[in-house]
Amino acid sequence: MRFETRAIHVGQDPDAEFGAVSVPIYQTSTYAQPAVGKPKAYDYARGGNPTREALQEVLASLEGGTRALSFSSGLGATTTLLLTLRPGDHVVLGDDVYGGTYRLLARVMNGWGVEFDTVDLADEVSLRAAIRDRTRIVWLESPTNPLMKIVDIERVAAISREAGAMCVVDNTFATPYLQRPLGLGADVVVHSVTKYLGGHSDLIGGAIVTSDDELIERLTFLQNAAGAVPGPMDCFLALRGVKTLAIRMEAHCTGAERIAEFLAGHPKVARVYYPGLPDHPGHDVAARQMRRFGGMLSFETRSRDDAIAVAERTRIFFLAESLGGVESLIEVPGPMTHASVAGSPLEVPESLVRVSVGIEHPDDLVADLEQALS
Ligand SMILES: *Cc1c(COP(=O)(O)O)cnc(C)c1O
Repeated sequence: MRFETRAIHVGQDPDAEFGAVSVPIYQTSTYAQPAVGKPKAYDYARGGNPTREALQEVLASLEGGTRALSFSSGLGATTTLLLTLRPGDHVVLGDDVYGGTYRLLARVMNGWGVEFDTVDLADEVSLRAAIRDRTRIVWLESPTNPLMKIVDIERVAAISREAGAMCVVDNTFATPYLQRPLGLGADVVVHSVTKYLGGHSDLIGGAIVTSDDELIERLTFLQNAAGAVPGPMDCFLALRGVKTLAIRMEAHCTGAERIAEFLAGHPKVARVYYPGLPDHPGHDVAARQMRRFGGMLSFETRSRDDAIAVAERTRIFFLAESLGGVESLIEVPGPMTHASVAGSPLEVPESLVRVSVGIEHPDDLVADLEQALS
């Protein structure tokens, strides 16, 4: 089955009792057991839930992994994965990763003896130099947030493997529709389901996908032991979102391409960051490892005040953090999403504006940016 078909059918057979074509929301915390010590399938819902199970099956299939686990948030997934580390272990982090991932390593895991360095993963020499004996994870995003840098996943995965480290890709921006890291040699994929997979800005969720059976056993234990599990209603909403992922991503990409071209020709825009533009430094790698170039882009205005003015003047784009929903969003990373990384290696230009292109008509979106920039 092709991607679009699997998104609708894997893990989502009609229910055995009534034939409901939509996976039921099993809103329960516990399960009646026929005999002591012999639960039917589940005993307590932190350990498992059929709605969650359906979501995990379809996510594993879409990413090309054997198993997936879903979590209460993207950071819940990340935390659970990092709980596999021990004091003295080391993580190499891309220098433009999600601010919350950086904060977790810098301000939480650091207190538990887990060390890390940030590097420009496009620079192979720095990557090799950063790897130590106890490097367990090389953590990357591509495209990155908010500078839309492209990392060659196949290359970084090969270097990680040579070093005996796990290559983890946060695939939130691309989604499995545009890019499948496991097929490029990565060991683990992490998602914020909150974004494109959910797709409607109405839930918080996370996921981990891998084909490493030993790792998934450990993570299944940690998921239950640490407890960052999603509720059945959120799993249902995520399942509903995933069904339309393919057509939504096509529309996001079409809109972003139009807007990138418009912005690139605008006199008040100093620079556009979109991997679909032929002069983007990562364009060729992106064209090789992605189906299209995604729905996220950033641009530099001439000053911090200009950036704030544009973001406050749009009418269709909502001024909001987050991304990946059907509605277009605009924000100024410096004082908003990236305020927590000011002064760190992840600091971003203050005149930068980031947009998450929704699936409204591209003409309306271009007109909105045109009036906001005028
Ligand atoms: C939002 C986001 C996260 C964190 O996910 P939450 O669901 O907000 O916890 C991680 N990585 C990326 C790339 C994100 O955009």
